[in-house]
Amino acid sequence: MNMYEFSEKNNREMGVFITRGNDKNIFDKAVNETLSIIQSSEIIQLAKTKRKLFENKNNPNEKTKRKPTRGYCIRCEERIQYDTEKPYCWNCFSIWSQFENPDYEENVCHSCGEFEPTSMNRPECYNCFVENKNSTGYK
Ligand SMILES: [Zn+2]
Ligand SMILES: [Zn+2]
Repeated sequence: MNMYEFSEKNNREMGVFITRGNDKNIFDKAVNETLSIIQSSEIIQLAKTKRKLFENKNNPNEKTKRKPTRGYCIRCEERIQYDTEKPYCWNCFSIWSQFENPDYEENVCHSCGEFEPTSMNRPECYNCFVENKNSTGYK
């Protein structure tokens, strides 16, 4: 059972409580199964590339700043359209929508792609949020 409210209320899932003292045999089997899942899992690392911040060097005038047109999925870093209402790629959104937790913490800023704690509610790092808020509109 996933320890989510969604699992508890919307799905039919079961949690089984096992103690070493009550049944050592089944406890050891459960531990071995867990270790086997961990050992056969793949480590997925996010690409730690340094992004170039969107900046118009020729014209640093505040008024000419534009909102970016391309953004990053806040979960997997995939390049997607910049839209703070939809900061997930299709795949990650379909997983997110199973729980629909707007504060679920993600890793990537939707705007600059840097590693920052973000969420559906706050998809941008503070700097990007301030910068894009003051932008004149979409490019
Ligand atoms: Zn994604
Ligand atoms: Zn950012």
